[in-house]
Amino acid sequence: MVSEVKDIGELKRILKDTFGYTTFRFEQEKVIRSVIEGRDTMAIMPTGGGKSLCYQLPALYLPGITIVISPLISLMQDQVAGLSQHGVKAAFLNSSLSPEEKSTVEQQLKRGEIKLIYIAPERAILDSTLIMLKALPISLIAIDEAHCVSLWGHEFRKDYTRLNELKAVFPNIPTIALTATADEKTRIDIARQLALKDPQIFVASFDRPNIKYMIYERENEMKQLHRFIQDNHIGQTGIVYCLSRKKVEKVTDELKKLGYKAVAYHAGLSSAERTRSQKRFDHEDGLIVVATIAFGMGIDRPDVRFVAHLDLPKSIEGYYQETGRAGRDGLPSNAWMVYGLSDVVKHSRMLEMSEAGEAYKKAARVKLDLMLSLCEVTHCRRQFLLDYFGQTQTPPCQNCDSCLEPPEMWKATIAAQKMLSTIYRTGQMFGSTYLIDVLRGSQSERIIENKHDQISVYGIGKDLSRGDWDSLIRQLLYLDYIYIKDYDFKNLALTEKSREILTGKKTLELRRLRLKIEKKSKKNRSSHTSGKDKVEALHQRPDLFEKLRVLRTELATKNKVPPYIIFSDKTLHDMCAILPRNREQMLMVHGVGETKFDNFGDAFLSIIKEN
Ligand code: ADP
Ligand code: ZN
Repeated sequence: MVSEVKDIGELKRILKDTFGYTTFRFEQEKVIRSVIEGRDTMAIMPTGGGKSLCYQLPALYLPGITIVISPLISLMQDQVAGLSQHGVKAAFLNSSLSPEEKSTVEQQLKRGEIKLIYIAPERAILDSTLIMLKALPISLIAIDEAHCVSLWGHEFRKDYTRLNELKAVFPNIPTIALTATADEKTRIDIARQLALKDPQIFVASFDRPNIKYMIYERENEMKQLHRFIQDNHIGQTGIVYCLSRKKVEKVTDELKKLGYKAVAYHAGLSSAERTRSQKRFDHEDGLIVVATIAFGMGIDRPDVRFVAHLDLPKSIEGYYQETGRAGRDGLPSNAWMVYGLSDVVKHSRMLEMSEAGEAYKKAARVKLDLMLSLCEVTHCRRQFLLDYFGQTQTPPCQNCDSCLEPPEMWKATIAAQKMLSTIYRTGQMFGSTYLIDVLRGSQSERIIENKHDQISVYGIGKDLSRGDWDSLIRQLLYLDYIYIKDYDFKNLALTEKSREILTGKKTLELRRLRLKIEKKSKKNRSSHTSGKDKVEALHQRPDLFEKLRVLRTELATKNKVPPYIIFSDKTLHDMCAILPRNREQMLMVHGVGETKFDNFGDAFLSIIKEN
């Protein structure tokens, strides 16, 4: 049933009183209107963009109950805990509940004591659940992380594909699907799989201006990571992503040895261990979680100051979602990555060995190629990312490594010719290490056995370092002048385009390898202080901020919730800027609503007054 929203003032009132915000972000208002007007709606927003509000606010505005389908138990728990702090009645139904707890929730639903009910997908489609829900006044169905329904998405879950059964039971109830995946194909697939009727689609700006993007060639990743954290993030909370469980364990140990507070998270840990890591991450300040991508969907913590990648993600969607976990509070944050050619080989090999269908593999290959392109581009990284998500013609950002330290270009035609001939003359049967050895005149047994010390290209590449050659190979790969022919042997081969270089028809300018470890990265240091300055320029009271933070930790411990559920860093900074003296002024602070004021307002006011 489609009906006009009469009272936009009412929406604003709920926004302020319940959530403590004064304005909508991005497309939130349009999405919310569409939902409460009774339309099927799809909201595509970047991670940290504020998707939850798009169904939570309608849930409060609409008369009945809102069903929220959410893929992870931890995510549901966090959302329900957060809503309770805002004074909103919410609960969840998932496998973590005992039969008694489950029946309590069902009773509360029947009595109309719950506005939002979070349900795991596999539970939502059980006959018993559907019968129970059918007897309730349902106003809205929200499908969070909706890309899980699509094979094209990057986190496919089988349970999601049956969610259209839910729609069949409630054909006239509006459904809102939420995701951070902007890929057109995935989007169409989501609408089809969920049987959305003529959905209104809203795509928010994907820009996360407070996140600085930095991508570097891998030299010694632990040294690079250590330097990056030392320069920018001492004592701050962050996530370090690695591809394999083994590497996660290794990096965690090494970070601990270097004196950091670090904890591992991957799917190989027991669920108790994972819950413990997640809990520590939610509650502790200055903890670094080293994780595979198994760690992610449940992260609500707004003050993650950095996300580091020690391996290349397999798609830009993945990269953007993972980096998007930094800086949800809008304060300056870093997305930092090191990568190398071996990453591309590893991913490609995993893909070739997987049992996925050819169409899927092809799509995945394209995604990986684009991910490599992001690393190799010579212009603004943000421009490249936004362009990928369909936002064209944005100006260079001045907040990524390409903008801040523009890459140096060099005339690489001759070097490329040397490499291409080496590939050709050795029979297109070897990987990068071997090829570079030949070019640099190595005396290795294998080379001598193969008589490759007798070919004309042997030793003609001593003028460039191994790193330079690696970088050249990656760029040739990204520009399609070569390709990886056999992933098992990692051997490189020529493409149709190679001829253009070999015959000199085309010249080549490439990005020069930037070595980071030896050079003291002064720039990073200054950008760190400037980031901090930006925050503290809002107020001159770092001392007060610390005191408020201590109070927040005390209250969090007492209430058994993560500190950010009490108030975000942004709220505390805002208190330091506004210095409220009474309830009314306190309600002007970002993130302070009625319920939160009633629970915690006085405690914070008294510290502010004392100082
Ligand atoms: P995601 O899109 O990743 O689900 P969330 O819904 O968790 O993002 O929102 C990210 C952060 O933005 C949260 O800390 C939330 O409280 C905050 N937020 C959402 N909407 C607004 C708004 N209109 N004004 C200010 N902060 C907001
Ligand atoms: Zn830029």
